[in-house]
Amino acid sequence: MDWLLLLKCIAITVSGGIFIYWVPSLILDALYYKQRRHQPEQWKVQPDRWAPKRLAKEERQLGTLNMITVSMVSGVLYYHVKMGGFSMLYFDVAQYGWAYTITSTVAFFIVGDFSLYWAHRWMHRKVLYKFVHRFHHRFRTPSAFTAIASHPFETLTFQAITLAPIFIVPLHPGGVIAVLLYQHSVSLIDHSGIRFSMIFPWQGPAAFHDDHHTYFHVNFAQTIHWWDHLFGTWRCEELSYGEESFVEDQTGRPHAKRLSYTTGPIEGRSLARLKKRQKRRSQSDSQSKPDVSLEASS
Ligand SMILES: [Zn+2]
Ligand SMILES: [Zn+2]
Repeated sequence: MDWLLLLKCIAITVSGGIFIYWVPSLILDALYYKQRRHQPEQWKVQPDRWAPKRLAKEERQLGTLNMITVSMVSGVLYYHVKMGGFSMLYFDVAQYGWAYTITSTVAFFIVGDFSLYWAHRWMHRKVLYKFVHRFHHRFRTPSAFTAIASHPFETLTFQAITLAPIFIVPLHPGGVIAVLLYQHSVSLIDHSGIRFSMIFPWQGPAAFHDDHHTYFHVNFAQTIHWWDHLFGTWRCEELSYGEESFVEDQTGRPHAKRLSYTTGPIEGRSLARLKKRQKRRSQSDSQSKPDVSLEASS
């Protein structure tokens, strides 16, 4: 056992993990939540709602704890591979060729995302939701820091699902790291609370996952939002949702029109709520108070 090498591997993965969690999240926070706080209608998915300070602090602490935990696991894995331990990773592209390397990387992404869709959907079954996944759903106006603010059991389960293929099929570590970084970036954007539109056609805009935090048992996809289309969990306009309306209780409901995330009806409704509130406030009270509203209760 080379303890010094193990420590080095863990130091590399933990510092890398903290960097990719904190730096982009802080940049988004500074550019939008601080600099443009006075004009939420121009950029915020939920312009009339702000996370209470207590929850904003909690999500950073929980997210940091999780990032350190999963990075330590990755560090041990890195050490294991470096010491010649068993895995199906190969380092020389020539061993399988470019065509296999690219195809297997794409398959790693698609199969992983499909598995994460189902793992997330199971997290929404009553027992798992109550004891595990509810931790993530306390954050109803998410920010980039919410991306990994979950119960540590959930974070480790998702990490195990994501990394399991490296012990099953030959994969190039470059492709694996590229997919992990892409998924992490999508997760930060999806939780940002900022009206980012979709980058690739298989991705939803940020409002898609933001709705998951507002309406709970709907829109489960991590990156490929077509899974929700395919398995009937895409948010529908006429259906009502709530924390107590679990996905298993929704089966058998009549087919309803799926919400279009390109026309932005959510933004319209949210903006209308904001304008109404501003009007009421200006009419009733000439003393302007800071717009720090409580989390939505539905
Ligand atoms: Zn969820
Ligand atoms: Zn989330």
